Amino acid sequence: MTAETRDLAALIADVPDFPKVGVSFKDITPLLSSPEAFQACVDALVAASPTDIDVVCGMEARGFIFGAPVALAMGASFVPVRKSGKLPRDTVETTYDLEYGTQTLAIHSDAIKEGDRVLIVDDVLATGGTVAATADLVRRLGGSLVAVSVVMELAYLEPREVLGRHRIDDVTALV
Ligand code: AMP
Repeated sequence: MTAETRDLAALIADVPDFPKVGVSFKDITPLLSSPEAFQACVDALVAASPTDIDVVCGMEARGFIFGAPVALAMGASFVPVRKSGKLPRDTVETTYDLEYGTQTLAIHSDAIKEGDRVLIVDDVLATGGTVAATADLVRRLGGSLVAVSVVMELAYLEPREVLGRHRIDDVTALV
């Protein structure tokens, strides 16, 4: 870890047993409350990501917080990936397994054009299911998934095994 990422890590609070017993929740709100740290985090996400990105996809909800400023900094489009029923126009959707139950994510059908170079941005990479589901939506619209950049990876949940099975190889975590 560099001094910069150590500073970021110190601003992500560990909340034991939230939202349920056994889960260690990574709370990024202390990081957001420092404009300098938030800016440094966005800068680091941009620096860690490939260039020539057409579209940045951020997933509801905390992927919006980091994905939108990354897209602006890169001069790319920002595309929100939302829970089912929230987007107003025609969508494509995918359903995947969570630790308990399932979740459906949706993207506007016209959000990505054939051949667009796409970057996925999120706060926390846990099991990898959310990123894999988003990658599925991107590819179904003809996008080329170039990379995934996240603030924090929970390596003990081994998300890269899941991502590898989905042919998602270029994954960077700041912390
Ligand atoms: P997963 O699909 O398991 O990789 O979960 C990733 C998504 O769920 C991200 O959008 C995170 O915001 C959220 N998430 C999952 N686990 C945690 C955690 N322990 N702390 C904070 N956010 C989490």
